Amino acid sequence: MSNDTPAKSAGPNKLVVRNVGLLLSGNLDHPILDADTVVAVDGVIHAVGKEKEIDTSNATTTIDAKRAALAPGLIDSHVHPVCGDWTPRQNQLGWIDSCLHGGVTTMVSAGEVHTPGRPKDIVGLKAMAIFAQRAFHAFRPGGVKVYAGAPVLEQGMVEDDFRELAAAGVKFLGEVGLGSVKDGVTGRRMVAWARKYGIQSTIHTGGPSIPGSSLIDKDMVLETDADVIGHVNGGHTALPDDQIIALCERSPRALEIVHNGNERAGLLALRTARELKQLHRMILGTDSPAGSGVQPLGILRMISMLSSLGELPAEIAICLATGNTAKMRGLNCGLIEIGREATFVFLDTAQQSAGKNLLDSIQKGDLAGIGMIIIDGVVSIQRSRNTPPATLVPEVVRA
Ligand SMILES: [Zn+2]
Repeated sequence: MSNDTPAKSAGPNKLVVRNVGLLLSGNLDHPILDADTVVAVDGVIHAVGKEKEIDTSNATTTIDAKRAALAPGLIDSHVHPVCGDWTPRQNQLGWIDSCLHGGVTTMVSAGEVHTPGRPKDIVGLKAMAIFAQRAFHAFRPGGVKVYAGAPVLEQGMVEDDFRELAAAGVKFLGEVGLGSVKDGVTGRRMVAWARKYGIQSTIHTGGPSIPGSSLIDKDMVLETDADVIGHVNGGHTALPDDQIIALCERSPRALEIVHNGNERAGLLALRTARELKQLHRMILGTDSPAGSGVQPLGILRMISMLSSLGELPAEIAICLATGNTAKMRGLNCGLIEIGREATFVFLDTAQQSAGKNLLDSIQKGDLAGIGMIIIDGVVSIQRSRNTPPATLVPEVVRA
């Protein structure tokens, strides 16, 4: 598919997905649904249940899932886009499309900080944020939705700047700490202004990411009180264990684990949140394109890492990359429920995996294979070019 919207037919576009072998809801409270069919009308989920109980007539597109699993499209809670499907950090073209082939259908910008010559004056940073928001709203590589336009806090910003950004459509701040605001008092004041106008915030956590950035420790994170504790496992360098545990215990905010961080620290955060019965706060990102590069399978790898080494049931690990992130980020995707975006990834056991089935293969540390992706009710890709080949692959039977 493409960046074009599908041609409008006379009636509604009705998508029927039948013969689903395992329906993963993205919802921590009931991650597996007793259902085999999903119907979407004009890109929105309209019905979920057993085929015989659902009206599947007059479909404009019918997919036979061939007993593969259906899950919500994966969300990458932490990316650094620049412009188009290009990143200067790793000098790579097509990185967003490549991540689509890793199951990611939605990305949230943590700041367009890799932009060459990034403006740091206030008029310039606002202009860049609004430009990025507009550009990525209109440009969807492979269909992926990139929520970009995430300004980085700089000294001298006033309340009116946040009001103006919100009115222009900005919904997220870039990571607090990547600009000149590096103290908790100023950070807290600006984050509260952002929140007042409906702009969500994320703070960089841990050691400096690249030369020129600096340490953000637990005291600064707690004082600033941003909505998302960005890469609680460091990006790259993690805080000491006692500080990570303190953030889990003392802040009520989202706890983000990224691929570009310290994996042991990520497992520590997972274990701590789980003991505190706070798993709903855990969300996943990659931080790509970072120093560690673009990770097209980064979210799938995080799911397998947390499930296998963290002994987290795979259906729960998938919630961290779907429903949890959607809820924390205020997105209308990430859950298989009526009224949500009809954005799905079809997963199955990778061929020759030692796992008995998809969930067992993930719990054993293997990556899932992707057989198809649907975004807003439209088939975006069929078999992924990047994952190991899935055993069961859905088929379009009528389009
Ligand atoms: Zn960061």
